[in-house]
Amino acid sequence: KLYNQVQDLKGNIRVYCRVRPFLPGQPNRSSSVDHIEEGNISIIAPLKYSREGKKSFTFNKVFGPSATQEEVFADTQPLIRSVLDGYNVCIFAYGQTGSGKTYTMSGPRELTEEGQGVNYRALGDLFLLSEQRKDTICYDISVQMLEIYNEQVKDLLVSDGVNKRYPSRHYTLEIRNSSQNGINVPEANLVPVSTTSDVINLMNLGQKNRSVGATAMNDRSSRSHSCLTVHVQGRDLTSGSILRGCMHLVDLAGSERVDKSEVTGDRLKEAQHINKSLSALGDVIYSLAQKSSHVPYRNSKLTQLLQDSLGGQAKTLMFVHISPEPEALGETISTLKFAERVS
Ligand code: ADP
Ligand code: MG
Repeated sequence: KLYNQVQDLKGNIRVYCRVRPFLPGQPNRSSSVDHIEEGNISIIAPLKYSREGKKSFTFNKVFGPSATQEEVFADTQPLIRSVLDGYNVCIFAYGQTGSGKTYTMSGPRELTEEGQGVNYRALGDLFLLSEQRKDTICYDISVQMLEIYNEQVKDLLVSDGVNKRYPSRHYTLEIRNSSQNGINVPEANLVPVSTTSDVINLMNLGQKNRSVGATAMNDRSSRSHSCLTVHVQGRDLTSGSILRGCMHLVDLAGSERVDKSEVTGDRLKEAQHINKSLSALGDVIYSLAQKSSHVPYRNSKLTQLLQDSLGGQAKTLMFVHISPEPEALGETISTLKFAERVS
């Protein structure tokens, strides 16, 4: 009960921490995670970070390295269901590159059924529940997939790199605010989906478009935000009334700080844009948690895009990811501090 009250006070913001396991082929090493107990995680931190040699953080939930995709999703499920009742939901994956963001949202590169991440499971649940309610409510479910790179919004659901409806404008899209649809990106393809295989095909297309221009050394996907937006419209079969819900599933750009003395040109610009948008996101969630009267949505494309789904009645879940390697400790601590501020 107390937990629910706290959730209400904080405007429905939840923070879950997930620790990636060591990767196969990595030499056996000690983890920088000391122990995990329910919502607590304690990190082995040298004196530079803590006088006790350990530093503890508390979140709504902490998933250790052996947590399965199914277990992680089980705690996400109630949020998904509320989309069908007309709520807006945002789910974020935050963390440094390599910490497991894409694994949580999508899954491993070689996707198996049990490896499926939150995106697939969320849509699978929406299909299942809408089917169960079909005698009373008729649901339409459709998705958009966008990328925000250097503060420009791009459509990821384009075939051959071209948006058929707006071929000349596929490159950068505008975020609009209409009285009927709220914040939206009308020019981005909106694709109706009704089965998990529809979703898999679209995600593959999006993934392919996201990696255009990337080379092995220069993986752009870690430096852009990708956002899978699910639009749900339900028509009550007796009253005819319409309800709308929307869910954003966001795989954020890597949160690692880039050493400004080492990068120049395009990489520096990218780093500055990422930094700016992740801080803007942190500031928005922080002001919502503080019940502040001014919420600074305008400071980045990301927070503008998600404005309708952050705050008010909307529900937010942030997955913060950490890597277990001691070399990652600096980033791990800054990730946990970011997470603590918004939780
Ligand atoms: P990010 O998207 O944050 O850069 P990835 O999701 O690509 O990180 O994860 C980096 C690597 O670690 C990938 O090979 C991924 O499959 C693996 N990995 C991440 N999280 C897990 C996990 N919970 N269990 C097993 N492997 C994982
Ligand atoms: Mg990734």
